[in-house]
Amino acid sequence: MNSGTEGMLAGRGLVKKFGSVAALAGVDIDIPAGQALAIMGPSGSGKSTLLHCLSGILAPTSGTVALGHRWISELSDAKRSQVRLHEFGFVFQDGQLIPELPARENVAIPLMLCGTGRRQALEVADQWLARLGLGSEGQRRPGEMSGGQAQRVAIARALAVDPAVIFADEPTGALDQATGHEVMQLLTVTARRTGSTLVVVTHDPQVAAWCDRLVEIRDGRIHADSAEVSSVGAGEAR
Ligand code: ADP
Ligand code: MG
Repeated sequence: MNSGTEGMLAGRGLVKKFGSVAALAGVDIDIPAGQALAIMGPSGSGKSTLLHCLSGILAPTSGTVALGHRWISELSDAKRSQVRLHEFGFVFQDGQLIPELPARENVAIPLMLCGTGRRQALEVADQWLARLGLGSEGQRRPGEMSGGQAQRVAIARALAVDPAVIFADEPTGALDQATGHEVMQLLTVTARRTGSTLVVVTHDPQVAAWCDRLVEIRDGRIHADSAEVSSVGAGEAR
C-alpha cells in the first residue's frame, strides 16, 4: 500500500497555455513525500491549473511531472488515468459527490474502480466515514447532509484508496469559516496520519498555517516559497 510515498512529486518547467493565455508560465516545484503544501495566490493566477497539471488531469503544454521515478506527464491518457485513480485522491470545492448515491457508496466507488469487491469496498468506506465522524450517516445522500458533512464524505472518498497524494482545490471555499476549519483540520491531520502528501489550494491563511509549506503563485509563476525563505520577498526587490 502507499507504494508511491517514497516518491516525491516534482514539476519541471511547467507551462500551460489556453490559446494565448499562459495559465502557467514556467513552474518548478518539488513536493517531498508526506509534505502538506498550501498553494495561495490571487484569483486567475494559475493555482487550479498547477494542481491539474501536477495531478495529471491536464497535460502541460511543456514541462514534465514525475511521481517518484515515474514521469506521469509522459504516460498515455489511459495510464495517467490509472495513476490518478490508484495513487491520487481529490477533494474539490463543491465535493462533486454523486447526489443519487448514499454517502458510503460515494466513498466506495473509487475503491471498486480500483478492483476492490463491493462488500469490502463498502466496509472500508464505513471505516473512513466513522473516522471522519460520520459513522451513522453512511446511508444518507449528499443532498440530505450539511455542506461540512458532504465535504467530509468527499475527504473520506479521497482517502479510502490510500493515495500517495491528496489534491484539494479550495476544499472549504463553499463552507462557513468555522466548518471550513473543522474540515481542513481533519484533512491535514488525517493526511499526516496516513503519510499522504497533501497539496491544497486555499484562500485561508489559517489553512495554510496548518500546512508544512506555503507557495504563492502570481501570473502563472511561483512568487514566494516558504521552503526557500531567502527567496521570499526577493521578487519585490528585483
Ligand atoms: P486560479 O485557480 O488561480 O483562480 P486558474 O488556474 O483557474 O486560476 O486559471 C489561470 C488562468 O488560466 C486564468 O486566466 C483562466 O482564465 C485561464 N484558464 C484556466 N482554465 C482555462 C480553460 N480551460 N480555458 C481557457 N482558459 C483557462
Ligand atoms: Mg482555481
